[in-house]
Order: sequence, then structure tokens, then C-alpha cells
Amino acid sequence: MSLTDIRSRIAAAEKAAGRAPGSVRLIAVSKVQPPSRVEAVLADGHRLFGENYVQEAAGKWPELRERFGAVSVHMIGPLQTNKARAAVGLFDAIHTLDRPSLARKLAGLAEARGICPELFIQVNTGAEPQKAGVLPDDADRFISDCRSLGLPLAGLMCIPPEDADAAPHFAMLAKLAERNGLSGLSMGMSADFELAIAHGATHVRVGSAIFGARDYG
Ligand SMILES: *Cc1c(COP(=O)(O)O)cnc(C)c1O
Repeated sequence: MSLTDIRSRIAAAEKAAGRAPGSVRLIAVSKVQPPSRVEAVLADGHRLFGENYVQEAAGKWPELRERFGAVSVHMIGPLQTNKARAAVGLFDAIHTLDRPSLARKLAGLAEARGICPELFIQVNTGAEPQKAGVLPDDADRFISDCRSLGLPLAGLMCIPPEDADAAPHFAMLAKLAERNGLSGLSMGMSADFELAIAHGATHVRVGSAIFGARDYG
């Protein structure tokens, strides 16, 4: 798959869902990919990327931004509180706000810096013990606590359980966002981004379908 193919599949999914062209943003997930593949996508004109690890992103994006100009990079992996300071200096958005200690840390940093990345709250829609995210039952409360801290909330994010039908998870996230007046929905990956768009995704996070399989070896 190429970037062009993914873009046209997104456009088709927007149309099929009766949504405005361009209403879905494509986050090209570049974690663990070799530099040559990332540079090819940059050379194609794409300017929005996703990363999972602060350290990997810090080693890669300052230099690429110097060469390619303004590039938005979104943090989509779990964020340790002790990496929050580095993260707010590096990322334009953080999709994995999932606990009060991190919210307080980000609020303190935002106050000191006068700016803050856009924030998405990660919801553990499948209530999986090993997965990050606030539980669905705790989401309303956590959203309102984040607002009390003055944090700039862009929306909600989820990663549905593997090997499960993602549709009910996307639907749940959309419902939680709507009832809390949040417009951003970060959901959908290589295997299911069209389904996510049908359920209202505003940000799809697509890695392997653009870059090829990740090699962790
Ligand atoms: C790695 C990752 C993606 C991209 O996954 P693909 O299946 O390669 O598209 C999307 N979202 C999150 C949170 C990820 O960690």
C-alpha cells in the first residue's frame, strides 16, 4: 500500500459515510520504521506523523523538521509522567492522557510554558486489564477533572481489543465524546480505519499499511 492508496481509501470512506472531504486526518505512524521509508513519505508531501516512544521521536524529528520544514508529530503511545516534559516540547498533540497524575503534570507544564499540545483522553473501551486508558465508567469524571485543570481537550482515543469486532468500541467512544461535547475521535488503524471513519473518526492512525511491516528485530 502506498500513501496515495491510503488517502484515496480515506476519501472513499468519508464519502460513503456522508462526511465532508478532508474531515479525517491521516496520522502516518512512523514508529520503528527505517528512516528511508519515513523520508519517502515526507518527500511525498505528508506532514502529520505519529510516534509511540519519546526517546525514539526525540532522536528523529528535530533533524527531520530541520530538513523538511514544519511537521506535526503526535504522541500515540503510553506516556510516563517523568517523560511529560520532553513530550510537551516535542509533540503537537498527545493522544494518551489516561490518569490524574499525568493530567496534573501536563497542567503544570502548560502553565509554565504558556502553551500545551492538543490532548486526547485514551479510553480503555474493552476494560482490558493490561491496557492503558481510563475505564468507560470513569471517563465523564476524568474529562471534567481535566477541564477543571484548564487542559486543552481535543477529543478521545481508543485501541479496541485485538481479535474483537471494533465497531462497538468505536461506537462507544463516539457516544462518550458526544455526550461530553468533544469533537475529536482518534480511532482506527491499518486494519480498520474505514470502519472507524464510518463511526466518526477524525484522526486515523495508520502505520504498517503505509510503511510496511515493522521490524522489531
Ligand atoms: C502502532 C500503532 C498504530 C499503527 O498500527 P498499524 O496497525 O501499523 O496501522 C496505531 N495506533 C497506535 C496506538 C499504535 O501503537
